[in-house]
Amino acid sequence: MPVDIPFRREFSFEYGRLEPVAPGVRRIVARNPSPFTFRGTGTYVIGGGEVAVIDPGPDLAEHIGALLAGLAGERVTHILITHTHRDHSPAAAQLKAATGAVTYGYGPHAGGQRGEPGVEEGGDWDFVPDVTLGDGDRVAGRGWSFEAVHTPGHTSNHLCFALPDSGILFSGDHVMGWSTSVISPPDGDMAAYMASLDKLLGRRDALYWPTHGPAITEPQTHVRALIAHRRERESGILDCLSAGVWKIDAIVERLYVGLQPGLRRAAGRSVHAHLIDLVGRGIVASDGPPALDTRYRRAHS
Ligand SMILES: [Zn+2]
Repeated sequence: MPVDIPFRREFSFEYGRLEPVAPGVRRIVARNPSPFTFRGTGTYVIGGGEVAVIDPGPDLAEHIGALLAGLAGERVTHILITHTHRDHSPAAAQLKAATGAVTYGYGPHAGGQRGEPGVEEGGDWDFVPDVTLGDGDRVAGRGWSFEAVHTPGHTSNHLCFALPDSGILFSGDHVMGWSTSVISPPDGDMAAYMASLDKLLGRRDALYWPTHGPAITEPQTHVRALIAHRRERESGILDCLSAGVWKIDAIVERLYVGLQPGLRRAAGRSVHAHLIDLVGRGIVASDGPPALDTRYRRAHS
């Protein structure tokens, strides 16, 4: 039986409008829809009067202008970054210039090289946080207090932000309701991603707000389904290898039925991430380092 992920894609919003989504939480969606961003980047504003902004978003003048207009008469004191993909962090520079807010994040973009053709929106190599946050660090402002939860996997520098008082977790791209996350090596790491899913299962957060798409109201059920989905994908890959299908393109062809052509590359990256993980665990062997075009086979135990 294939794993059934309880996807959520009903999403009501209006581009360019800062709208309340929960007590003390507002959101504005950037007009950068794509197969990787769903309807666009959701920028969250926490608090009132003196506020924190999570993931100001892409470098889109219309979006930054609408965010600032929506915050007229208020002061942005903190800018929190879940990770350094180009649909999340670039607008931090302009928002900081306009408001004097301090930026917070795990650290600059890591893994791969500047200019490398990536999947998704690619890395933002220019963002450097004013203040670096590690797992468990707290950031507090007027009327709110965040806990940073380091959740590497989608990127090595991914943070979720928890508001322990309200049970909300801003889950970034680590856990989304509308889609699974892209895990693209070298910065994307499947073993780290699975550990970061397990980490969320050990927490008590009641509601997730991802950067893209609607809230996840049954987070534990959703995270368990994501874990089961990856284990299912992993066993599909092992079946392919047993059947002599070892080229990543051919594995994608077999396992991703009905895939949109624009997502083939991302699917290949995810299969590659699984293979690196399986080699690391000694379940799969490779001829040489586990690259995209390496020959893979089942390891004999
Ligand atoms: Zn991302």
